[in-house]
Amino acid sequence: MSKTKYQRIVLKLSGEALAGEKGYGIDPQTVQAVCQELKEVHELGVEIAIVVGGGNIWRGSIGSQMGMDRAQADYMGMLATVMNALSLQDSLENLGVPSRVQTSIEMRAVAEPYIRRKAIRHLEKQRVVIFAGGTGNPYFTTDTTAALRAAEIEADVILMAKNNVDGVYSADPKLDQSAKKFEHLTHLDVIQKGLKVMDSTASSLSMDNDIPLVVFNLNQPGNIKKVVLGQNIGTTVGNANN
Ligand code: UDP
Repeated sequence: MSKTKYQRIVLKLSGEALAGEKGYGIDPQTVQAVCQELKEVHELGVEIAIVVGGGNIWRGSIGSQMGMDRAQADYMGMLATVMNALSLQDSLENLGVPSRVQTSIEMRAVAEPYIRRKAIRHLEKQRVVIFAGGTGNPYFTTDTTAALRAAEIEADVILMAKNNVDGVYSADPKLDQSAKKFEHLTHLDVIQKGLKVMDSTASSLSMDNDIPLVVFNLNQPGNIKKVVLGQNIGTTVGNANN
């Protein structure tokens, strides 16, 4: 247990991370692969909370661009995250990892409502806690949810899992060959340089609450464990003092 760098983590999984090669919907094999990695991290005694996105199913901004009311479309996005959370729970339980889903929008037939103290209790009992429904408010994102929940449960770090990108670059490495990868950044750098790490609300919240992030490539097997063990992969983002 003492080998790990972090004891309590928030893993931010985008909806895309569950979609597999199709790029949309839920691919159970992809979900299983992520959960297998989480099982290994769980076996190290690390307390794991997950904030899952919904972009593989629905994004509020897309609905809004197509003429829908933004808040209504955002609520649909929040519901999409619940489907993803249930698929993660299914997979974790198949692997024998105890888990609980907590939703910010009450739906007691499928999950517990979000109760901060109860979430912490679950973590202490080595249950993986999956936070679904985002913040419960339209106009926010699940990145902001990750920053908010990390602050609330006093997580040591947010693991920002990215698809096929191994950190934060000065420009899009797929479009610009001269793009440089950063090893370390401050939250202020991210905000001032407009780097694509998380949205600005989430960055500000992480900065104000002094929560470090590690941005890493989820598609490289074993990476979640490497981050937890403190190996230098990806990009770390923190305040000047961490
Ligand atoms: N959403 C929201 N409030 C929140 C979190 C999410 O309204 O607190 C909605 C929003 O419409 C968003 C969708 O849920 O587009 C899916 O979340 P997100 O885009 O963060 O998912 P990801 O990109 O991580 O898959």
